[in-house]
Amino acid sequence: MKIERKIIEKIAEEIALSLGKSEKWKERIIRRVIEGTIIRIIPERLWIVKGLPHLGDRYPSYEIYRKDKRYICTCYTHPWSSRRRPCTHVGAVLLYENMIKILNMEPGPGFEPGK
Ligand SMILES: [Zn+2]
Repeated sequence: MKIERKIIEKIAEEIALSLGKSEKWKERIIRRVIEGTIIRIIPERLWIVKGLPHLGDRYPSYEIYRKDKRYICTCYTHPWSSRRRPCTHVGAVLLYENMIKILNMEPGPGFEPGK
């Protein structure tokens, strides 16, 4: 399934605005989704986001947990972790989940945003 870039942009824009995040942050979450780095492990609870060295990731993957309404990423425990939260791993998960919800899609092999 093809999803237009401008639709992804619009959803990402809303997330970035609601969290007071920059244009750069928005671009990074879009990149992560387009590059297909997000794997949903447990619906609404646990995701794995693959690290992208060109986005400065130092680990091959990150785990994102949702507890109540809070999202916690394993990058928060790393000594060089950015203090700016939520990180773009969490942002990418929010974008991914919102796209699924808004576009009423099933995640899976056919879900290839940006392709
Ligand atoms: Zn993170």
